[in-house]
Amino acid sequence: MTSTTNTSKPVEKLKCPFCGFEGESKLLKTWKYAGWDVYFYQCSNCGKKFRWQVDPTGVKKSFIMRVGVGKRSR
Ligand SMILES: [Zn+2]
Repeated sequence: MTSTTNTSKPVEKLKCPFCGFEGESKLLKTWKYAGWDVYFYQCSNCGKKFRWQVDPTGVKKSFIMRVGVGKRSR
């Protein structure tokens, strides 16, 4: 059996943890961290950046919110 595996960019429709926008966020870069695949996205709606980590097995996934720009009003 021949199975073609396309290793294209993972364009997932993520839900922005900041504004709740659901759609295609811009993938800025990817790297490996502690065995995880880390995807660094920028929301195409509010422009905020967040990390999206996926376990190599694809089972565990987690968001890591990160505010690049913005002021803390507290
Ligand atoms: Zn957003």
